Amino acid sequence: MTHVRAVIPDDFELPVEAFDIPLCYQGDLSGVVIPEGLVRDRVRRLAKDINAEIGNKPIALLCVLKGSYKFFTALVEELTNARSACTEPMTVDFIRVKSYEDQSSTGQVIEYQQTHNVQLSTFQIQIMGLSNLDELKGKSVLVVDDISDTGRTLAKLLTTLKETGVEKTWTALLLSKRVKRVVDVPEDFVAFEIPDKFIVGYGLDYNQKFRDLGHICVMSPSGIEKYKT
Ligand code: 5GP
Repeated sequence: MTHVRAVIPDDFELPVEAFDIPLCYQGDLSGVVIPEGLVRDRVRRLAKDINAEIGNKPIALLCVLKGSYKFFTALVEELTNARSACTEPMTVDFIRVKSYEDQSSTGQVIEYQQTHNVQLSTFQIQIMGLSNLDELKGKSVLVVDDISDTGRTLAKLLTTLKETGVEKTWTALLLSKRVKRVVDVPEDFVAFEIPDKFIVGYGLDYNQKFRDLGHICVMSPSGIEKYKT
């Protein structure tokens, strides 16, 4: 089965007023880049692609929190359906990964802008959650992450997993940003390729807000101002 990414063009944004947006976020968004229903449709096909590629092997799905919680849930559900004829089980594990530049967390607008100019040596990630990464030793692991931007978080995580003795890794990403990677990282299964914009929703946050928003959106200047720390 060929794996084809759904490519969102640079200027594609739907009007926020055309969608059902929670009251608490009204005025905070300037456009809908990917409606939630489209994510669901795409994840269904992605699960079939993953199953066709990996086949009937025991597999551990690793959810990289917090950003991929919604994507992970949807993917597990669809993979369960796609694997109905499999005799080997699928297991789930959860880790939390935080990225830091000079002690400040990335994933926010200001830091996001800085990531395009920072020194590689100042970048660190902190992995939390699994009491012992050794639990994954010898396993085939599908790493499920929200977005690849510079590629550094995923690259560090994959290196750590390899050092731990994970036998084989694949990556499944909700979003791959159309930017030059600082570190090249394998992107095996990608739901959407998106333009170089800071986006929120479907698990992705701005200062912990918007993770609960169903649609993947771009923020308005007033929303950025309202939630900045
Ligand atoms: P990296 O630059 O290492 O590929 O991405 C690191 C992390 O930054 C991602 O896992 C994600 O949490 C955050 N990030 C990158 N781009 C965006 C974005 O457009 N929006 C949000 N909310 N987070 C992002």
